[in-house]
Amino acid sequence: MLSLRDVVGHEQVVKSLQSALANNFVNHAYTFSGPTGLGKKSVGFAFARALLCRCNQGDACGECDDCNRSERGLHPDLHIISPEGNSIKIHQLRAVQESASITAYGMGRQVFLILQAEKMTLAAANCFLKTLEEPPAGVVFILITDEPAGMLPTVLSRCQQYRFSRLSREKVLRVLANKGSGAYYSVESAQVAAELSEGCPGRALAMLEDPNKRISRIELLMRIVRGRPGSAFLPVDKLTEREDLGEFINSVILIFRDVLIWQLTGSAELLINVDRHSDIIELAGTYVKPEVMDILITAEKSSDYLASNVNQRLVLDSLLFKITGQWDDDRG
Ligand SMILES: [Zn+2]
Repeated sequence: MLSLRDVVGHEQVVKSLQSALANNFVNHAYTFSGPTGLGKKSVGFAFARALLCRCNQGDACGECDDCNRSERGLHPDLHIISPEGNSIKIHQLRAVQESASITAYGMGRQVFLILQAEKMTLAAANCFLKTLEEPPAGVVFILITDEPAGMLPTVLSRCQQYRFSRLSREKVLRVLANKGSGAYYSVESAQVAAELSEGCPGRALAMLEDPNKRISRIELLMRIVRGRPGSAFLPVDKLTEREDLGEFINSVILIFRDVLIWQLTGSAELLINVDRHSDIIELAGTYVKPEVMDILITAEKSSDYLASNVNQRLVLDSLLFKITGQWDDDRG
């Protein structure tokens, strides 16, 4: 498990957390927010580990009993809460309330890492709010979320909020190099993944671990395009999960960016999806430039809508209408 000093990127966040630790000026609740795959959870774990380290040096020492236990996921004062099924339920937050009131074992701290915090039910969030209003001494909550807009504003306002930013391509490559010590992927594929990841190392890693997922999303897009105009049977049943839809939209953006680049320059050197060259040429022949730009704008908007919790089906439909050209057909 990572220590704060090993984190690649997110310098401001890490510096601020380290200084809070060093000055013993730790808040009782934090939110780490930002797009999927930025490393919020890793920083959350590193911070939790540092908070519980008995050496109290502003980071995890990596040597003590506390560090060993938290590394193995066996620290009695490190509690991890994640959705049960689709949501974080009230009984989970009642259990948090209960354990938070019990004295901690080691450093006198108890850390609760709440993953996908936006998935708390309203009842759970209200229960949590009560705990936040009167936080027991020594308790630290770290809430990790991709969608802070889905959280209760009253919960957010009681947390110190850190917004994580995207990493540069070089830093994504550094994360990949650190993780890939077993070198199970080539330098070339790491470079393509870093390029496609849009600054999210987790996304690059997922692509390297399962390259078929990305390919199948692009193939789904090609099936939709070839089924136009206005096929009533779009093969989109695989996009019912929010995360899958988000990744699909992302693939649409990256592919159509390449289509536009190809239309403008005719140069394959500038393409990101180099391995899908023939699809890009096909798409460039299917759509004229203004249509490509229209699809790109709609896809970018769809991505924002999805992040702000707009109905998933509406988001998908508006994008598909653009890709299949149904709006234009309807208007005649
Ligand atoms: Zn330690």
